[in-house]
Amino acid sequence: MDDLFLHRALDESIRDVYDRPLRSLRLSVTDRCNLRCRYCMPEEEYVWLPRKDVLSFEEMATLVGYFVDLGVDKVRLTGGEPLLRRDLPRLIRLLSQNRGIVEIALTTNGVLLAEQAKSLYDAGLHRVTVSLDTLKPDRFRRLTGRDEFARVLKGIEAVRTIGFPDLKLDTVMIRGFNDDELVRLIEFARSIDAEVRFIEYMDVGGANEWTMDKVLSGAEMLERLSRHYGPIAAIPGRGAAPAQRYQLADGTTFGVIPSTTTPFCAQCDRSRVTADGMWYLCLYATDGIDMRGPLRGGAKPDQIREIIRAGWGLRRDRGAEARKELERTGARESGLIGIERLREDPHLEMHARGG
Ligand code: SAM
Ligand code: SF4
Ligand code: SF4
Repeated sequence: MDDLFLHRALDESIRDVYDRPLRSLRLSVTDRCNLRCRYCMPEEEYVWLPRKDVLSFEEMATLVGYFVDLGVDKVRLTGGEPLLRRDLPRLIRLLSQNRGIVEIALTTNGVLLAEQAKSLYDAGLHRVTVSLDTLKPDRFRRLTGRDEFARVLKGIEAVRTIGFPDLKLDTVMIRGFNDDELVRLIEFARSIDAEVRFIEYMDVGGANEWTMDKVLSGAEMLERLSRHYGPIAAIPGRGAAPAQRYQLADGTTFGVIPSTTTPFCAQCDRSRVTADGMWYLCLYATDGIDMRGPLRGGAKPDQIREIIRAGWGLRRDRGAEARKELERTGARESGLIGIERLREDPHLEMHARGG
C-alpha cells in the first residue's frame, strides 16, 4: 500500500468540533451567471468579485491540493455558472493529476453544456449534475429571465450521448410554481436514464424572495408522489450525502434534499471555496477564511495547511439547523440576508459560493 492509500484507509481526514471529517469541496470558478433564477439571482445587476481577485486555474489546483492533503477527496466545480469560465477543461486536467481526488463533478445550468460536454469528458470530468426546475419552456423563461430551455435540453442530451455515468437533475421545488411537475420530472429523468433530486427551497444567500409558505417539504413531495405511484421505499445507506434516495415499485429512483425542513448538518462534510479564494465552512456562514492572501503572499504549503487545519478544527457550523430553530419563535419569516447587506458583500450570495 502506498502512502496515499494508507492515509485514506486510516481515514486521516481532519475533524471538526462535532467530529465531522473534511471531505467534499465545492469550488466556485466564477460568480457570473448567464441565467437569473428568481430563487438565486433575482436582480439583473450585481456587485461582481473583482477580476484581479479571481484565482487562476493554477492557483485553484494548488489550493485544492492542500485541502486534499487534509482529507478532501471529492471536488465539485460550481459557480455562478461554471461553464462561463473560459477553458474549464484545463482546470479539470490540472485537478485530474492529483491522485487523492477520487471524484471531480460539475453542477451547471446546462446552457453551454452541449458545446462543452465532450471536452469536459475528455479532460477527466467524472459526473455532471444539471439544474432543471421545469419542463415547460414558458415557465423556464419566467423563472430564469432567459429563453434558454431548448439549449439546456440539448446539453442534457449531449451528456447522455457522451456517456457520463450517473447523470443527475437537480430541481428546486417551489410551492405554487413548479410543484405540479413532480411526476413529470421523474418520468423525464427515467426516460433519459438520469436521476432527479428535488431540493427544498432554501432561505440562503440571494434568495430574497423566499418565504416559508413557498417551501414544499420533502414529506409533502413524498406524500404526493405516493398518491400517484403507490408505495415508495427509502434506499438505505445515505452516509454523508445531502440527498435521501427513494425507489418506486418499478425500480425508478429519485432523491429528496430536505435542507430546509429536515437539515442534515450533523453529517455534513462539505465546505466551499469562492472564485476569489474565500473558504466558507457552511452554506449559511457569513464569514469566510481568506485563502487567497496567504496563497499569493508566498505562504509555505505547511502554513496554508495549518490555516485549513485550524479553521476546520474550530468548525461548529450547523447553519440549516440554526435557521430551522428560528421557526419556534416565528423569526424565520424571510431570507437570511437582506439586499443591502448582499450588495455590501457579494460573497454572501448563493451564486458566489456555489450552492
Ligand atoms: N449555476 C449552476 C447551476 O445552477 O447549476 C451552479 C451554481 S447554483 C448556485 C447551484 C445549485 O444551487 C443549483 O442547483 C441551484 O438550483 C441551487 N440553488 C440556488 N438557490 C437556491 C435556493 N434558494 N434554494 C435551493 N437551491 C438553490
Ligand atoms: Fe440559476 Fe445557477 Fe445562475 Fe443561480 S448560479 S442564477 S441557480 S443558473
Ligand atoms: Fe452543512 Fe451548513 Fe448545509 Fe448544514 S447548512 S448541511 S452545516 S453546509
